[in-house]
Amino acid sequence: MNLIKNMPLANTLGLASYAQFGCLLIHSDDVVAARAFADAEGLPFRVIGAGSNIVPMPQVRGVVGVMAIKSLNIVDEQDTGLQLEVGAGHNWHELVLYCVEQGWFGVENLALIPGSVGAAPVQNIGAYGVEFAEVVASVQVLDGMGDVRWLSAEDCGFGYRSSRFQQCPDEIITAIRLNLAKVRHIKIDYPDLASYFQGHVDLTPKQIAAAVIDIRSAKLPDPSVNPNVGSFFKNPIIDNARIAYFEGLDLSVFRTRVGAKLSAAQLIDRCGWKARQSGQVRCWVKQPLVLVNHGATEAAHILEFASDVRASVADAFAIELELEPSVLA
Ligand SMILES: Cc1cc2nc3c(=O)[nH]c(=O)nc-3n(C[C@H](O)[C@H](O)[C@H](O)COP(=O)(O)OP(=O)(O)OC[C@H]3O[C@@H](n4cnc5c(N)ncnc54)[C@H](O)[C@@H]3O)c2cc1C
Repeated sequence: MNLIKNMPLANTLGLASYAQFGCLLIHSDDVVAARAFADAEGLPFRVIGAGSNIVPMPQVRGVVGVMAIKSLNIVDEQDTGLQLEVGAGHNWHELVLYCVEQGWFGVENLALIPGSVGAAPVQNIGAYGVEFAEVVASVQVLDGMGDVRWLSAEDCGFGYRSSRFQQCPDEIITAIRLNLAKVRHIKIDYPDLASYFQGHVDLTPKQIAAAVIDIRSAKLPDPSVNPNVGSFFKNPIIDNARIAYFEGLDLSVFRTRVGAKLSAAQLIDRCGWKARQSGQVRCWVKQPLVLVNHGATEAAHILEFASDVRASVADAFAIELELEPSVLA
């Protein structure tokens, strides 16, 4: 493990940010060594992946490890499916492309989500009707005592864009195991996908991934051109008692497994933020939930804009929008 002082932190918001100490984590021993150094110096220790869901401050205190553990093995195989173990440092989208190329079903709806495999459990990534929680078998963590443990999907406490890992930052994710199907097992009832396929159901995972890539590319800004972290806010979950009120305002209310969900994008749009620029930040016109950085150099500028958006949604609807990315200070 090679510790670098003032290591620049890559992030898809295009912000200049430096970790007091940084390093690449290529083996799990590197995690142990980096944490030992941080402990000895009395500094915090954090792990990131590709930086596509963080808002990093200009100077990040402590030791930041960039996850780079790579491995890919089939650990169990049957006629109808298999279990695949993947190191946390793999790129998520490349993993999806690999799986669909093999004809394996399970992760195709999650194509083109930026970031690392190890970050996928952290906020239980989800898109186009599928969540990571539905395909994961178990998650390997290296805990604060240096012990390696496999947590079952149930133990991970997955919820809507949430998991136990947001509450247990000492648990560093080093690998995951996915349950993938070899026989047709598709989920295309999400409105954009349903209208894309117009009733065709005899589909391969590759065709579904291609559709997701098409739809996402038309709607979401490419961070290499328009820096962003995807959705900046979570969709708010409301009590059943408030459903009628919001429906009365002609707002969409989605009844889901986790409760009634509002569209944060719609609330932001109703408050007039669509494509409104303030300073060097604005909402993406095709998806106002995405804040795009047009030259802001510091996290504070992005967070100020986000706080203005939150305040107007709170004023108009008495809804407190929750931030989706984590702020790294
Ligand atoms: C254009 C765009 C579109 C997006 N679309 C979606 C989408 O459709 N659905 C969705 O859910 N998300 C989406 N995101 C958000 C993002 O892609 C995911 O959250 C992704 O999982 C982040 O991966 P990362 O490696 O970049 O994580 P980072 O940003 O590096 O880290 C995110 C958080 O996870 C923690 N973390 C990272 N790796 C580990 C590890 N190995 N162990 C413990 N903690 C770790 C970090 O400390 C941090 O708190 C989008 C982002 C962008 C830029």
